[in-house]
Amino acid sequence: MPLLVILEHDRGELADAAREALTAGRDLAEQMSVDLHAVVIGEGADDLTDEVEGYGAETIHVVTHHLLTDYGPDAWAESVRQLADELDAEAVMSVGTDRGNEVLAQLAARTGLPFVANCTSIDASDDDSWSMTRVQWGGSLLEDATLQSDRKLVTFAHHAVAASEQSVASGSASSLVEEFEPELDDSHAVTIIKDRVVETSGVTLSTAPVVISGGRGVGSADGFAILDELAELLGGRVGCSRAVTNNGWRPHADQVGQTGTRIAPEIYIATGISGAIQHWVGAMASKRILAINTDPEANMVTKADYAVIADLHKVIPAITAEVKRRKGL
Ligand code: FAD
Repeated sequence: MPLLVILEHDRGELADAAREALTAGRDLAEQMSVDLHAVVIGEGADDLTDEVEGYGAETIHVVTHHLLTDYGPDAWAESVRQLADELDAEAVMSVGTDRGNEVLAQLAARTGLPFVANCTSIDASDDDSWSMTRVQWGGSLLEDATLQSDRKLVTFAHHAVAASEQSVASGSASSLVEEFEPELDDSHAVTIIKDRVVETSGVTLSTAPVVISGGRGVGSADGFAILDELAELLGGRVGCSRAVTNNGWRPHADQVGQTGTRIAPEIYIATGISGAIQHWVGAMASKRILAINTDPEANMVTKADYAVIADLHKVIPAITAEVKRRKGL
């Protein structure tokens, strides 16, 4: 009766969230005294086994089917349901990204089992009743909950666990790789990916080491040119607040926050952003935050590690000029 951990990947490229899932899963499996089994689904899944083995999964299930080329919540959940039944899994977990929560919610609906999303800690020492703390309301509330179910379905909050590698613990020194072909038909392909847009830039908002965001204080779409220039110099990405996407100054893909992307860069530079709770929950996992704002009382300023109280239109070009000087440009 293993713990099954669902791993996110994109055609053979493991997501950072998957490494978090394996790290959290290792601890959970140890508490439960069961084996850790990883599940990789779809095209490219079999390329991942070496990397997944480095995170200590005793068994890796490679799930393939012609309806599983790309991610699809219905087909993924149905595949995991069949696999969990076959293995009599005691629990199924993932990380609470959009996809992780979507698949677990689908699985919960298909099986009628309770699902606890976005946990920050889980005490699984009692088989019958798990105690957990989970994030609610976009991070503004921590809730203590108990879960009693024959098969436990949970996700860990994204970025709640720092990923770390570890070799396979029990018995043999390497993971066992098992193929699994679920029984799927067109009714499981309700949501399918029809088009893939490849970003030209190498780093994404959620993985960039530096994110420079602009808010309403930037003033216009053109005003973002100074942020774009600095982000390029620092190898980072430009983000924004919802006020900006609402104004049509930047696409929704750039939005940081509860209804945007949750980021965890080494440094987050938030310019002209007040730091409303819905923005803050997407930014709070940043290692360090620099706020640039004319208002010393702005939420972003009071929560930041560093702040410059000044007009961003003067501060950003000054930082850019200094970076260029230091790079000899
Ligand atoms: P404002 O709150 O207007 O702040 C502008 C800031 O710029 C101020 O602090 C001001 O002092 C400063 N400023 C002005 N001029 C300058 C200048 N020249 N130099 C420096 N500073 C200057 N928001 C998100 O960002 N992401 C989300 O995912 C999100 N999801 C939401 C979900 C829901 C259900 C709801 C209700 C809201 C959501 N919001 C989200 C909106 C959120 O509540 C705020 O309205 C939004 O974040 C405000 O954006 P802002 O900080 O850019 O604008």
